[in-house]
Amino acid sequence: MAKIGINIATGSLQQEEMIVGIDLGTTNSLVAIIHPESKLPTALKEHNTSSLVPSVVHFDAFGNPTVGEEAKNFLITEPQNTIFSAKRLMGKSYNDIKDNADFFTFKVIDDNTESLVKVQVGDKFYSPIDLSSFILKELKQRAEHILKTPVTKAVITVPAYFNDAQRQATRDAGKLAGLDVLRIINEPTAASLAYGLGLRKDEIATIAVYDLGGGTFDISILQITNGIFEVLSTNGDTYLGGDDFDRSIMQYWMQEVGISNEDLKANKELSQTLRLKAEEAKKHLSNNETFETEVNGDKLSITRADFETLIDPLISKTLASCRHAVKDASIHVSDIDTVVMVGGSTRVPAVKKAVSGFFEKPVNDSVNPDEVVALGAAVQADILAGNNKDFLLLDITPLSLGIETMGGLMDVLIPRNSKIPTKVGRQYTTQKDGQGGMRISVYQGERDLVQDNRKLAEFNLTGIPGMPAGLPKIEVTFLINADGILVVKAKELRSGVEQTIEVKPQYGISDKDVELMLLDSITHAKDDIAKRALVEARTEGEQLLATTERFIAKNANLLTQDELVATAEAMQALQLALTMEDKDLIHKKQEELNDISRPYAERVMDMAVSAAMKGRKIEE
Ligand code: AMP
Repeated sequence: MAKIGINIATGSLQQEEMIVGIDLGTTNSLVAIIHPESKLPTALKEHNTSSLVPSVVHFDAFGNPTVGEEAKNFLITEPQNTIFSAKRLMGKSYNDIKDNADFFTFKVIDDNTESLVKVQVGDKFYSPIDLSSFILKELKQRAEHILKTPVTKAVITVPAYFNDAQRQATRDAGKLAGLDVLRIINEPTAASLAYGLGLRKDEIATIAVYDLGGGTFDISILQITNGIFEVLSTNGDTYLGGDDFDRSIMQYWMQEVGISNEDLKANKELSQTLRLKAEEAKKHLSNNETFETEVNGDKLSITRADFETLIDPLISKTLASCRHAVKDASIHVSDIDTVVMVGGSTRVPAVKKAVSGFFEKPVNDSVNPDEVVALGAAVQADILAGNNKDFLLLDITPLSLGIETMGGLMDVLIPRNSKIPTKVGRQYTTQKDGQGGMRISVYQGERDLVQDNRKLAEFNLTGIPGMPAGLPKIEVTFLINADGILVVKAKELRSGVEQTIEVKPQYGISDKDVELMLLDSITHAKDDIAKRALVEARTEGEQLLATTERFIAKNANLLTQDELVATAEAMQALQLALTMEDKDLIHKKQEELNDISRPYAERVMDMAVSAAMKGRKIEE
């Protein structure tokens, strides 16, 4: 096992092993490193193959996964066993994705709830985290094969709009794949880094990153100030990309030779051939004026001009998003210093021309748009490794810092490897009616349960005025100053009561301790993720019991005897499930209780609404 060393004084990692940059994409993923000799960012690939690994997972009859090109071959023949676009499901519930459920040709569990989605293949269930971990494991293995050395540390990129849950899910997938995820960085930030933007310490610039891939479009506006990237705005369309370009060529040909949508549905092979030919035509037209081919004896052709007319509405759609993003960033197009192109579809000349026209300047497209994000992740990895001496490496926190939340979970406010000084705030609330105090326990470490981390400090925020549960707004702020001193402040925003404490986070912790804590977090990854899921399920279950109890106490007279009995039974069953170590059972019992209460809850709500319309309140 390679040794992990962190210099606590500088926060830099001692270089004993290469840190890789990973672009975990919706369609394709890849790994890049800074080449040890040329010192240039380089995408890893086996001889004579592409650096891109399709983000597709196929399961055989025994549930064994394969990833990449091989898995992609099963997309048409075994759609139910072949998972693509798992990234679209990261951190999502079924309710989040149900409007696009048709998009997925495999089975996404429809439980109509807010719990996280799962995918079913055969009799097994997989979370998007599991699926992403299979892809990351494959990338890790490929990298190890090419580099002939173990790879255990990585920087992984995510879209700028990913929320905390989606970022955490990506971290968890990395952990499951046996990777120590040093940092999650935004894709547009990585793309900028690949162009060398943001590497000068005195640099101040505004950048637009236009990312048009196979299935998604993102525009991000970034502000770089002294090596710190800030996302000013993001916009885009999660279902718009090069695949739509292919479809428009297909439709064009189908009209020309008289193939209907029904013909296509009935003939999967023809559909597949046409799709592949359309993609070939699109790519060919990026460098040529015309494309000709033959399918089943029919001559098919298309000129670049025709293609540009077809995709004009799609390109206009992306420009509308750009307009929104510029507006949301509260800037003008003329304030943007640089435009960076990302994603294979930006190779289309008409796209480049339109984007350049919109931003009124030439675009940066010299770096391979399929690789640029991974290359930038490698640049970031190199900075973390302390190799890039020209870059001012600000001190960084060696371990994550956070507070204990419900059920003993670690809620990270400042992830490890964050640059200091830094300040982060997050809002919490009370669990009980009239709760007058709140204990803030500060921990350091990478494990999901606080009991496995190091406790740094604890204090009580007292004097919160009596309010119903959930109403107080308690903002906890972590501030690490340039000397590495952590100041934790808790403030109830409605009443203004506050409490502050000073902690020295690195006090008494040796390089060896840090090393052990990191290795621990990887060794226990699977366990930790399962434990956290159980704690979360229990917390959710307890909350549901409490709200149901309150609802019944208030509205018992509006419910039938049968409803009351069924509810009591379902509550009891949930209560019992909470005492067991089975999160799926808890979810199931929660669902059953919800199914029973939904009809009468809706009925009572309707009554309240109609009563309100008549100008009176129902409880009075
Ligand atoms: P990405 O998701 O960034 O890997 O982008 C993949 C998309 O880029 C697919 O729709 C490809 O068909 C498209 N693409 C790749 N090469 C070209 C090219 N030379 N011209 C136009 N589109 C391309």
